[in-house]
Amino acid sequence: MPELPEVETIRQDLRKKILGKKINDFVFTKKARLNKTTKFFVDFFVGNHFAEIDRIGKLIIFVLPDEKHVLLVHLKMTGQLIYKKDDKIIPGGHSDVSTVDVPNKHTHVQFHFEDGSKVFFNDIRRFGYLSLETIEKLEKIKSKYGIEPLTDNFTWENFAKIFAGKKSTILKALLLNQQIISGLGNIYVDETCFDAGIRPDRRVNTLTLAELKRLFASTKKIIKKAVEERGTTFNNYLDADGKKGSFVKFLKVYGRGGQKCVKCKSILTKTKIGGRGTVYCEKCQK
Ligand SMILES: [Zn+2]
Repeated sequence: MPELPEVETIRQDLRKKILGKKINDFVFTKKARLNKTTKFFVDFFVGNHFAEIDRIGKLIIFVLPDEKHVLLVHLKMTGQLIYKKDDKIIPGGHSDVSTVDVPNKHTHVQFHFEDGSKVFFNDIRRFGYLSLETIEKLEKIKSKYGIEPLTDNFTWENFAKIFAGKKSTILKALLLNQQIISGLGNIYVDETCFDAGIRPDRRVNTLTLAELKRLFASTKKIIKKAVEERGTTFNNYLDADGKKGSFVKFLKVYGRGGQKCVKCKSILTKTKIGGRGTVYCEKCQK
C-alpha cells in the first residue's frame, strides 16, 4: 500500500510536470470510481488545468484554478499515478511494476495534456477513487485528519497530547490511526518503533516520557528520510529522470521477519498486531 512518502513523491513529481498545462482530454473506463457522472468530469476537466497539487495524509489534492474546486485522489491499496510523455515514464504509488506499462487493463482514468503528456490512474483492486469536491468540503475532510509528520503541526506538544488519556490502546494501532496521526502506515510504523527501541504491542499508558520523546524523534526522522529517498516502491524501477525509490535499502525490520536484527543479530519476531503483519526485535525493543 502506498504510504505518505510514496504519495508525497508522486505529488512532487507531478507538480513539476503538469501544473498550468491545459487538459485536452479526460478518458475513463466503466470501472473508474468517480463521485460524479463521467459527463460531469469530462465537461469539468477538458480545457481546464491544475493550479497546484497539495496533499494531506495520503490524499492527493489537485487544486483547480477557479479556487472553488479540488480533485481528490486516493490511491488506497493498489492505486498508481503514472506520468508519461513520449517514452518517458514516472511511476508513483503502488509498487507493482507489471502495470507501469500504460495504458493497460487496470488503467481506469487518463488525463491528456496539451504538451502530449498523460497521467494515468491504475488500480488493480479498485479501492482508490477520484472525487471532485468544493473547497468547503475539503476543509471538512481535512479536519478529520490527525497531525502529520511533515508539517509544522507536528510538534512535541501536539504529539504528547495524542497519548494523554489513551490508556489501553496498543501503540501500533494508535500510530496507524489516520485521525490521530495522518500518513503513517504499516512499513513506517514498524520502522519507527524499531528506531525508537519500543515494542509496537506496548499499551500506550506504559510508555515513559523518555520513550515518548524517542518515538517523536524517530517518527520525524524515518518519514523525512523516506521522502528524501522517494519511498520504498519502485526500488527496481529507474524512471525517466533516473531516480528510484531507495528507502527499501534502509528498512531494518519491515519485510525482514525471521532474519537477523541489524543491531544485535538475534532473529526478528514476526507477528500480527491488530490484524496487521508486524516485525520487531525482542532484544532491541522494550
Ligand atoms: Zn535487535
